[in-house]
Amino acid sequence: MTTGRFDLAIVGGGIVGLATARQLLKKKPGLALAVVEKEAEVAAHQTGHNSGVLHAGLYYAPGSKKALLCREGKAALEAYAVERGIPFEHCGKLVVARDESELPRLEGIRERAARNGVEGLEEIGPDRIRELEPHAAGIRALWSPRTGIIDFRRVAEAYAEDVRSNGGAIFTGRRVVGIEERGGERIVKTTKGEIACSDLVTCAGLHSDRVAAMTGHAGNERIVPFRGDYYTLKPEARRLVRGLIYPVPDPRFPFLGVHFTKTIHGDVLAGPNAVLAFAREGYKRTDFSPADLFQTLTYSGFRKLARKFWKTGLTEMWRDWSKRAFTVELARYVPEIRACARSLWRPTAPWWTTSRSARDPTSSTSEMPRPRPPRPLSPSAGSSRSSRSAGSGSSDRVGVHSHRVCRSSREISTAARVVEGPSDFKSMLSSGP
Ligand SMILES: Cc1cc2nc3c(=O)[nH]c(=O)nc-3n(C[C@H](O)[C@H](O)[C@H](O)COP(=O)(O)OP(=O)(O)OC[C@H]3O[C@@H](n4cnc5c(N)ncnc54)[C@H](O)[C@@H]3O)c2cc1C
Repeated sequence: MTTGRFDLAIVGGGIVGLATARQLLKKKPGLALAVVEKEAEVAAHQTGHNSGVLHAGLYYAPGSKKALLCREGKAALEAYAVERGIPFEHCGKLVVARDESELPRLEGIRERAARNGVEGLEEIGPDRIRELEPHAAGIRALWSPRTGIIDFRRVAEAYAEDVRSNGGAIFTGRRVVGIEERGGERIVKTTKGEIACSDLVTCAGLHSDRVAAMTGHAGNERIVPFRGDYYTLKPEARRLVRGLIYPVPDPRFPFLGVHFTKTIHGDVLAGPNAVLAFAREGYKRTDFSPADLFQTLTYSGFRKLARKFWKTGLTEMWRDWSKRAFTVELARYVPEIRACARSLWRPTAPWWTTSRSARDPTSSTSEMPRPRPPRPLSPSAGSSRSSRSAGSGSSDRVGVHSHRVCRSSREISTAARVVEGPSDFKSMLSSGP
C-alpha cells in the first residue's frame, strides 16, 4: 500500500534530518517533502540526549570543513534561537591542564583555536582559573567565553514545526525496512506502508550504515555503539561547576575523558565513561541485541580499535562499574567532588556542612579548598562491591546521580536518563532507563 507520493523523502527525524528538511523547503517552497521517523516523536535518540554544548570550534584543523561548519553553524543556530525564543547561554568553557605534561597539547589547541577565530579566547593561569571556576584545579587553561549551551531537542522540535508549517509531512512511528526502485521512483518501505518519492536523503544516525545499505550504496563503515555513563551533580553540589570544565584531550585515545557540563536546564553532567554497548539503542547495561553485538564483533574496524585501545577500554569498563573510580577521575578536575564522595563511605557530617565557604558560592575564593595534586586512576581506588555496600544507607549525601547514553567511536549516541530517587550506589549502578 502506497501511503503517499513525494518529491523528496528524508529518513530520520533527528536534528540532521529535520535541518535538511527545513532548509530544502526554504530553498524550494512547494516541494512535496516527507520525513520518516521510526520513533513516536522526533529527536528521540542522539539529538535528544547529548550534552547540549554549542561548540566554538577549538579543536578542529584550521581551514577544514569541520572548523568552518562549527563556526558558521554556531552563529546560525544562535540567530535561529533568538528568532524562535529558544534559550541558550554563553557559559564558557575551560580546557584545563592538570600538570606540565599537558602543556604542549594545550598550546597546540590554543594555536588551532586562534587560527579558527574562536572569539574571546584567553590562555590563563591558576588565579584566573579560580576566578572563573573557583572549584576547578589546574596549572593552566584555555578559556573560551563564547562556548554555549542549548537544548538541542527543543531546537529539533522547532525545526519540525517549521517543516510542517512550510507544507512538509513528518511521519513518526514508521520504521524504514527497505528501499527499492520501481517504475522510475524510489519506494521507501516502512512498517506502516510504502512511500513513493523521486529523491531520497538518509539521516538515520545510529542506523545510518544499515539504512545506507538499503539504498544499495553502503560503504565499509559500520556503527560501533558505545554507552556513556554520566552522573548529574545533585542540586546542592551544582555550585562546584559554573560552566564547562574539560580536560586537555589526548589525541592518542579515542575518547575525550570525563568532563563537567552545565546544561541549559541548570543540571551539571559529569562524565561520560564510554563502554561498548551490546545494542545500538541500548541505554542500560543489560540491553542486548544479538544482531547488533554480532555485527560489532565481526566488524574488522572494531577489532582494530579493540586491539589498539584495550587498556583504555578496560579502564572505562572499570569506571562504569565503580562509582568510586569514576569519582576519583572527576576529582582530578574538581577536587571537592572527592570530598562529597568521601562522606558516602565515612558518613559523618554531610559534606556540604563541613565548610561555610564551600556552601556559599559568593564567598571569597581564598577560602576555597586548595586543589589537591592529581591522583592516578587505578583499580585500587575502590571496588564496585565496596562502593555498593558502602553507598547504601547514605542516600542523601551522594553528590551525583547516574545518567546513561550511548555513543559510537564517532560520538554517535543513543539516549540518556537521569536516575532520580534514592541514590545509594546500588540503585545508581543497577537501575537503568
Ligand atoms: C554523548 C553525546 C554527546 C554529544 N554532545 C554534543 C554537544 O554537546 N554538542 C553538539 O553539537 N553535538 C553533540 N553530540 C553530537 C550530536 O548529538 C549528533 O551529531 C546529532 O544529534 C546527530 O543527529 P542525527 O540526526 O544524525 O542523529 P539522531 O538524533 O540519532 O537521529 C537519527 C534518527 O533516525 C531515526 N532512524 C534510524 N533508523 C531509522 C529507520 N530505519 N527508519 C526510520 N527512522 C530511523 C532514529 O530513530 C533517529 O531519530 C553528542 C553526541 C553524543 C553521542
